[in-house]
Amino acid sequence: MATQRTYLDYNATAPLAPGVREAVCAAMDLAGNPSSVHKEGRAARALVEAAREKVAALVGAPARRVIFTSGATEAANLALTSHVVSPAGNVANTLIIAAGEHPCVIDGNRFAPEALLIAPLTAEGMLDLAKLERLLAQVPRRACMLALQVANNETGVIQPVKAAAALVHAHGGIVVCDAVQGVHRMDCGARALDADMVFFSSHKLGGPKGAGALVLLNESIEIAQPVLRGGGQERGARAGTENVPAIAGFGAASIAVVANRDMENTRLAGLRDQFESALQARFPGVTIFGANAPRLANTSAFAMSGMPAETMLIGLDLEGIAVSSGSACSSGKVRTSHVLEAMGVAPDLSRCALRVSVGTGTQTDDIEFALAALEKVAGRMTTRRVKSAA
Ligand code: PLP
Repeated sequence: MATQRTYLDYNATAPLAPGVREAVCAAMDLAGNPSSVHKEGRAARALVEAAREKVAALVGAPARRVIFTSGATEAANLALTSHVVSPAGNVANTLIIAAGEHPCVIDGNRFAPEALLIAPLTAEGMLDLAKLERLLAQVPRRACMLALQVANNETGVIQPVKAAAALVHAHGGIVVCDAVQGVHRMDCGARALDADMVFFSSHKLGGPKGAGALVLLNESIEIAQPVLRGGGQERGARAGTENVPAIAGFGAASIAVVANRDMENTRLAGLRDQFESALQARFPGVTIFGANAPRLANTSAFAMSGMPAETMLIGLDLEGIAVSSGSACSSGKVRTSHVLEAMGVAPDLSRCALRVSVGTGTQTDDIEFALAALEKVAGRMTTRRVKSAA
């Protein structure tokens, strides 16, 4: 087994960004509850509010519009409900979900199954705007909500959020945007996306796990019914004592992201391109998903026909490489990716889908190391297949 480890799974979670550990540790040394009025409580409150400013700055929103949650999953559960006070006081009684959304959106919303419509993707993994327009025509005006992510976690394909928002807004609807994979890599502010609400998660940007945010970008929107009720924290939108250390770390990570987002994107795109050109040269039959769509600079989703992802994943792990597969294993069954299915990828190829996602710690050598490991593992699998066929 290899001793060197190369982590190429940044879309799953990212290592701590500079300054985060210190912010978390400092917050852990504070005894106060942010809701207490004494000096200790006020010190904890000050940390939470300082972090709120930093997280808000990521999307150019006022700090008072940030609701801290335990992560993006909780934020999705909070936002995707008909209990939203919308600009014209209308109730969204239909939720349109783009077919490639994360399970926290597909399964984590508070709409009845009969109130859900799925908006198809193109073969390149982007929301099909013409089909969205047709779906909108089926729902009454001023009565729908669209859930659309900024970029897909499996393929990295960037979604046409602004164009979709124009269609939804023309119909009087609301747009909720999952910016989990995008907020640290592109502008996810109100002007860039035109979304009404946006949510994201601390641990994807190098903050600690267990913190996230829902940002109400549209000033006239409020969540009328929280998921968690109790002490009225977060202006009544999310009860429960704030996770002060995680929130402080989230704030520190947000600062680190903003500091060098553009330069880092250029560097990561170089690494991704290095990986994909070598992949195509060494494995001529490889399929790169969403290759012709706008994609995140750091993500490469691909499949080598006949090489099941789960076996590749284990082989690569033993060679010291951490990547993800496009399939999910639960209850002993391997399910193929709903994202690739929505793109029309055949199940046999989908079962071979792997995701490499690079990040701040990735260097050229890591890419070379991963490619060598891929060759080794794929070579072993081919030999085994030839032997068993003989
Ligand atoms: N949305 C996307 C696009 C994601 O990639 C993830 C995590 O993988 C989530 C939502 C959920 O985030 P969390 O697990 O932090 O709640």
